[in-house]
Amino acid sequence: MSNQKEFYDVIVIGGGPAGMMAAGRAAERGKRVLLLEKNRTLGRKLGITGGGRCNIANAEENVRELLSFYGDAEPFLYSPFSQFGMKDTFTFFESRGLPLVVEAKKRAFPATQDALDVVRVMKEYVMAHNVTIRTGVRVDGFIQDAGKIIGVKTNGGVFAGRTFMLATGGNSRPETGSTGEGISWLSTLGHTVHNSNPDIVPLIALEDWVKKLSGTSLSFMKITFSDMEENKETRFSRTGKILFTHFGVSGPLILNSAKEVKKLLAAGPVRAYIDLYPDTEVGTVRNRVLGVFEQNKNKDFKNILKGLVPAGMTEAVLSLLPAQVAEKKVHSITKEERLFLSDLLKAMPLTISGTMGYEWAVVSDGGVDLAEIDTKTMRSKKHGNLFVIGDALHVSRPSGGYSLQLCWTTGYVAGSAV
Ligand SMILES: Cc1cc2nc3c(=O)[nH]c(=O)nc-3n(C[C@H](O)[C@H](O)[C@H](O)COP(=O)(O)OP(=O)(O)OC[C@H]3O[C@@H](n4cnc5c(N)ncnc54)[C@H](O)[C@@H]3O)c2cc1C
Repeated sequence: MSNQKEFYDVIVIGGGPAGMMAAGRAAERGKRVLLLEKNRTLGRKLGITGGGRCNIANAEENVRELLSFYGDAEPFLYSPFSQFGMKDTFTFFESRGLPLVVEAKKRAFPATQDALDVVRVMKEYVMAHNVTIRTGVRVDGFIQDAGKIIGVKTNGGVFAGRTFMLATGGNSRPETGSTGEGISWLSTLGHTVHNSNPDIVPLIALEDWVKKLSGTSLSFMKITFSDMEENKETRFSRTGKILFTHFGVSGPLILNSAKEVKKLLAAGPVRAYIDLYPDTEVGTVRNRVLGVFEQNKNKDFKNILKGLVPAGMTEAVLSLLPAQVAEKKVHSITKEERLFLSDLLKAMPLTISGTMGYEWAVVSDGGVDLAEIDTKTMRSKKHGNLFVIGDALHVSRPSGGYSLQLCWTTGYVAGSAV
């Protein structure tokens, strides 16, 4: 090849979690490995995962249960997970001095609660096995000779190799380097590629009270979505943590509902209701409100509301009550107003007008069709010396550590097979 610079057994494109795992593993097995990353540093997105804490895996021990979260990809993933599963992830990090802790919903985090420690362990892994790391090198595409991939073009010249691993990620949060070009090369190579969609993504709400709560999070709430006509068939509810933002709502509960909400949004804005008492029947909430009113008859209503709503929510609830109620003493609130309040606590209404874009998405699905990838090795069935790993695979999954586990698993499997 003209302008050829160096020759490697394996060239890994993309220094995210999947690429680092694959590069380290292949080098550990004695391969001469080159890792190309267009950013100045490795693992930029990894460093912001889990709100900076990195939800590194999901600690579900039952493989069948764990894989059920990957939807249609479940059958494909049995083989790779049998080679490197959740327990292997724990062993991998803990044996390298980074203990993991398991929190609610089996989400595993580094005990240090710092995503940068995960990045550090992965960098140490690739460096310990003498992977040649080139950062600031943007790959522009593959070079083929008679249909066989023989190298990559980059802004720093050409690199030739025997085997190639595509670990360029998806489209979410493009500022971290995941801009999707790797997936478009797969199309050029004759692969079937599914269009990506920002799936795990915050939702835009119209109401001012929502935006005014920006920064407030509620840890155990229920939200119900339906179309504006409130058809029973379209209705669905989820319980979990909601984070209010300056544009609407986010947090695990919202992110994991976004895919279904998007379907409803196809027909127009979506009606949603937040239930502040998800564990309590409306009748019980009404009795509770009545009890608080009876104990505080002569107090200002505004002052006792704090005792009925989660911290930070008082102003939002007041803004949804008839204007005259806010200024009343408790004893002058009418029965209708009291019932209105009780029902509001069970169903605070908001209107979802859309989803945020890739720049806010946690994961975009889309990527190469799994039928064209060998399940045991991650090798392309169309190009014998190409492996595809991590977010470049078409696998949808919720938030909760499933994405990074997919990267550790597919990266390790490819690095072991190459
Ligand atoms: C805000 C946020 C929080 C998240 N939190 C979690 C979490 O807590 N738990 C979890 O499981 N998942 C989480 N995810 C998802 C997870 O980060 C991704 O699934 C994961 O990073 C995908 O890894 P990857 O190696 O496939 O790709 P990426 O991490 O996207 O890495 C791809 C790399 O390839 C490089 N690259 C791309 N194109 C080129 C090119 N042409 N030349 C050279 N280099 C290139 C990019 O710069 C990038 O560094 C989160 C995602 C986001 C956005």
